[in-house]
Amino acid sequence: MEPIKPVFEEITEQLNSIREHIQVIAVTKQVGVERTKEAIQSGIRHLGENRPEGLAQKLEAIDEDVCWHYIGNLQTRKVKDVIDEIDYLHSLDRLSLAKEIQKRATRQVKCFVQVNVSGEESKSGIAPEEAIDFIQSLEAFDKIQVVGLMTMAPNTTDDQVIRKAFKGLKLLQLQVSEKQWAHAPCTECSMGMSNDYLIAAEEGASFVRIGTALVGSESEAKQ
Ligand SMILES: *Cc1c(COP(=O)(O)O)cnc(C)c1O
Repeated sequence: MEPIKPVFEEITEQLNSIREHIQVIAVTKQVGVERTKEAIQSGIRHLGENRPEGLAQKLEAIDEDVCWHYIGNLQTRKVKDVIDEIDYLHSLDRLSLAKEIQKRATRQVKCFVQVNVSGEESKSGIAPEEAIDFIQSLEAFDKIQVVGLMTMAPNTTDDQVIRKAFKGLKLLQLQVSEKQWAHAPCTECSMGMSNDYLIAAEEGASFVRIGTALVGSESEAKQ
């Protein structure tokens, strides 16, 4: 596989030409421990996993001081295994999950509320029109800090459709941050993956989540 460092540097350069301080999360769900270590040695500081098992495997083997992001759907019964191990949760999308986090976390967790901007049925996330009420209701949970919103682009190769979804998330994020709720500063947007991170950056992403285009994919690590 290609060395990670030059790829990371090129992506960083592309992003910096759009805006400074966009954080790259290397999504390591399709690679093993060695490749994840290479990512860290290449200067990557944010790592993303979408399954409790994958996260545990990496945490056990890696003790560098990096930031762990949980980016996938999180089953309520798995919260206890994951919540104290991560720095950011990108998939808060329902009250039952918030309640379980409140019960299990021993410290405050930085959360992104996942929004289904495109309305595709296959996608998780809260509907955009319900997002503001949902975020307001999270005030009841002092273990949760809403740092931003997260979305997945619709399944299409039409850049205009993708761009529209990212614009929608950014607008919603601004609407929430304008409320100045103490529990929900909501200053961040987590959007953009391998195929659309540049569009996401142009539309205001502060975190992009890049897997295959950055660290590649090792089928044996897929599990
Ligand atoms: C897998 C995944 C990514 C990265 O996908 P790539 O297309 O490999 O960049 C980003 N975000 C989420 C939520 C994912 O599940």
